[in-house]
Amino acid sequence: MNRVIVFAALLITIKAMASAGAPEMKSENGYIEPFRMFDNVYYVGDKWVSSYAVETPSGLVIIDTLDFPYSRWIPINLEKLALNDKKVTHIIVTHGHSDHVGGAEFLQSLYGAKVIMSKKAFRLSKEQALKSEGKSRFSPPVVESFAEDRSNMLVGDTEFKFYITPGHTEGDMSIDFRVKDKGKLYRAFVVGGHSVNLQNPGLAQQFVDSMDRIESLALQGTPVSVNLSNHPHKNNLFENLEESVKEGSSKPFISKEEFFMFIEQQRDLAKAKNINNYSKK
Ligand SMILES: [Zn+2]
Repeated sequence: MNRVIVFAALLITIKAMASAGAPEMKSENGYIEPFRMFDNVYYVGDKWVSSYAVETPSGLVIIDTLDFPYSRWIPINLEKLALNDKKVTHIIVTHGHSDHVGGAEFLQSLYGAKVIMSKKAFRLSKEQALKSEGKSRFSPPVVESFAEDRSNMLVGDTEFKFYITPGHTEGDMSIDFRVKDKGKLYRAFVVGGHSVNLQNPGLAQQFVDSMDRIESLALQGTPVSVNLSNHPHKNNLFENLEESVKEGSSKPFISKEEFFMFIEQQRDLAKAKNINNYSKK
């Protein structure tokens, strides 16, 4: 009984800490209502940047954390989805830009969660944190061990595989795992970073190489059929949501063609931008 009281008190504290200083939850600020995409995946991001909550029997895994202080919406969204009685055990960060890592330290402090990212993403997150100011000021998270290429992590019944796929930044990390729709498993992929950085021509070549690699990884075994992009406009998330609500099904979020088309588009854009530097193909 005491444990229940302590846990309830902890939840109230988390709620109070999260709400304090949260930007007003309105469309002009980029707020959108969180929603369930699959049996085990929820969207808790905003209009411009994605954040996903993956539910496992041993707790929640958050993928990307938004720019601070918009990150404060994430615990509120978890509560709206009635997931607030679940512990956030892990936070996975795709790359070191503030719109993905900005809330990692905040959520880590709130839940005592482990943060997983690549070493190069962590380096960039420290630079970004130093540049952050005013209400958007954030600290880098504490990372105990860095994710390596082809490493994996098991949380409850869900295995996350990590691939270092540089090109948008040097430390982009892609994530490969299974989502469930009415109990049926589908392979989902989060591409670690979109769009090439023209200020660094070397990265453009790496981006093209990473897209080639992701394409071949995604075709090995069960092909990827769920594109969990880290920006919602890259996987037509809100259009698919409308369809999903109409149909009462997760099917609009599942499309092998859409995933592979996305990889092709990203690669073509990088090639077009990097036409002078790119000579391999
Ligand atoms: Zn970025």
